[in-house]
Formats: sequence, C-alpha cells, structure tokens
Amino acid sequence: MTAALVNVFALSFIAAMLAAVMLIAWRSFGKPRYAMIWAIAFGVATVEWVGNLFVRFHASDNLLLCSLVVGLCCLSNALIAIGFVQRIRPGATMTPLLLAAVAAAIAITTIVFLFPQRDMRDAIWLFFGGTMLAISAGTIVRSLRTASLPERATMAMLILFMLVDFGLGALALGQGISGEGERYQLFRLVLVLLYPLAFIGVGIFSVFLVAADLAENMRMLATSDELTGIYNRRGFEESAERAIRNAQRQRQPLAVVVGDIDNFKAVNDKHGHSVGDRALKHFATRLERMVRRGDLIGRIGGEEFALLLVNTRAQDALEVVERIRRDIGTMPVEGRNKIVMTASFGVTGLRPGDISLAALLLRADRALYRSKLEGRDRVTSAEDLEDRI
Ligand code: GH3
Ligand code: MG
Ligand code: MG
Repeated sequence: MTAALVNVFALSFIAAMLAAVMLIAWRSFGKPRYAMIWAIAFGVATVEWVGNLFVRFHASDNLLLCSLVVGLCCLSNALIAIGFVQRIRPGATMTPLLLAAVAAAIAITTIVFLFPQRDMRDAIWLFFGGTMLAISAGTIVRSLRTASLPERATMAMLILFMLVDFGLGALALGQGISGEGERYQLFRLVLVLLYPLAFIGVGIFSVFLVAADLAENMRMLATSDELTGIYNRRGFEESAERAIRNAQRQRQPLAVVVGDIDNFKAVNDKHGHSVGDRALKHFATRLERMVRRGDLIGRIGGEEFALLLVNTRAQDALEVVERIRRDIGTMPVEGRNKIVMTASFGVTGLRPGDISLAALLLRADRALYRSKLEGRDRVTSAEDLEDRI
C-alpha cells in the first residue's frame, strides 16, 4: 500500500465519522438545519473518498469515475458553504442554493470528463473548494465585530484552508496536461501533505462551531426571559455587574432604574392571565424602544423590571424614565381590551463606593416604594429622597 492509499483510506473513515457526528449533533441539539446540511456534506465526502480509493485500487484510468469523484468533491465543498449560509440565516430557504450546488457539481463533472487534462482537472476542484471556503469564511467576516471567539477561530481556519486550496490549485496548473515530471511530483507531494489537513481541519472546526452554538443557545436560555425575550434576573445581574465594573474603572456615570406595573393584579383578575402576559410583553417592548443601544433591560420579578442606563447621570436618567412613564401611561396594549397601564419607578445613580449591583438595586427599590406610597404612576430618585430626609 502506498502512503497516498493509506491517506485516502483514513480520509474515507474520517469523513464517515464527521458525517455521523454531525447527524448526532443535529438530532440531539434541537435539529439545526445547518448541522444536517453538514452531515450530508460529509456523507458526500465519504462517498467521494471511497470512490477515490476505488480509483486508486482498480481503475485509475476510468475517466468517468475520476470525473464523478471530482464532481462529488465540489458538491461536498458547496454543501459546507451552504451550511455556513444557513447558520446565519436559519429561517431562509436553501433550495435555490442546493440546486445551484448540484448544477455546479454536474457541470464540473461534465467539463472534466470532456476535457480530461490533469492540470485543469485538479485546478478546477481546488479553486472551487477554495471559493466555497471563502464563502464560508465570509458568513463570519460580515459580522466580525460581534463574532464570538469560536466563530473567529473558525473563520481564521477557513481562511487558512482556503489559501491551501488556492495555493494547491495554482501549483496544479504547473504540473502539465498529462501530469508527469518533476512539477507533477511536487504537486502530488504538497497535495498529500496539506490537503488532508485542510479537510480534517474544516471538519473539526465545523463540529466545534455546532458545539459552540449550542453552548451559546444554552447561555441565552439561562439568561433571558421566555415571555418577553429581555434578560431575566440572572442575565440582568450578570451583565449589570460587568457594566458597573467598567463604569467604575473608566469613571463614567451610570444609572439603575427599577419599575413596577401598578395594580397589575387587577389586569390579571379582570382580563385573565393570558392578557396579563400580553401586557407584560407590551411593557418590555415599550422599554426596549425607549432606551439606547447598550443599555440593559431585565424582567427581575413578575411585573417588575430593571434598567441600567450606561454613561448616564442620575439626573439625566430621571428625564429618560419620566419619558418612559408617560409613554407607558398613554400607549394601550394591543388587542380588543385596549388596556392602558401605569407604572411606578425608582432611580439611582452609581456612587464611588458602589461595588456591586445589590447596593444600587436596594436604593432604586426604596425609591420605587416611595413612588408607590405617594400614589403610583410616578418616578422617584433615591438621591432626591435622601436630600429630603
Ligand atoms: P402594585 O401597584 O402595588 O404593584 O400592585 P400589583 O397588583 O401590581 O402588585 P402585586 O404584587 O399585588 O401583584 C403582582 C401581580 O403580577 C400578581 C401576579 O399574578 C402577577 N404576575 C406575576 N407574574 C406574572 C406573569 O408572568 N404573568 C401574568 N399574567 N401575571 C403575572
Ligand atoms: Mg405591581
Ligand atoms: Mg411587584
């Protein structure tokens, strides 16, 4: 057995394992469609490598088989890229892209069958593979600013493997039409050394990405409120602690607000729990519309919400919250009943001694309590409250 044969045998097995891992990931992790597309991609790659093995063992001059192997390689590369596109657009239909991938694979199979020059045949699948890797990396490059570390690592690997494909493609063009001589030997050597690494690397990193996405989903579930989609208490606390540390370090102001819907029990009692739920969603949506990007919003209790306004002094926060209070009191909840709610708020600003969120929440809560005592539908500042005492 030659080294190349051992290589191809190992790759067939690795491709089959990657297909199985992707299939299991798809079944176990909430059936993300891109994992299924990648499972199919590695399934196609398995057939391609087994076909390759067959060509090397038996019929190295069978043109049709060689062309089919090239076509399958291109199809598997295209499916990897489609998986990456699907990953960033989970709702979009991929049928046109899938049809285009199959059409491209058939076209390439036909071309290499009709024009069986070695240099062109190898260059075509390597350049095609490189282009598909460029598209895959492009799905992450587009939102690089917000990309997570696993996404950035995957992107770096995809770019590296894209360079391997393009480099090998350029080398392939130098090997000559019939594939003989020193240049041919050089191309084969580099191909055997680098291509398997690129293939396995793409496989490992796509599995890694599915796992990283799952971890991110779990984190989102643990930190967000199912009903309203904003942070739950835990998520708010985690992000707020971070924001407070940043503000203290950079000596920037920051304000924390606690809001509680007035007489919410009556809404539930009068209209039912599901209308109450709708009203809570409405409240969260209004809050989201009224604050700036970068501010934090959380539902920290049944009908109790918290805001953290970054880079905002307590005095300015009072104005923002006053606007929110007026907005809530005038915008009816969507639906037949046209419920208009009011809410009471407590506001406080970050002080030099505040090292955690708890101190700020306590002050904001006291101010909120005062708003309730003084008749509801109002905003009280903890700072004003202390001046009054
Ligand atoms: P106050 O003005 O003093 O805040 O009066 P309130 O009625 O708003 O306050 P209270 O604490 O007595 O009642 C809160 C109500 O919020 C009681 C509970 O049924 C309701 N609630 C809490 N969580 C949910 C929820 O997820 N959905 C619905 N529909 N109601 C909820
Ligand atoms: Mg209430
Ligand atoms: Mg309450």
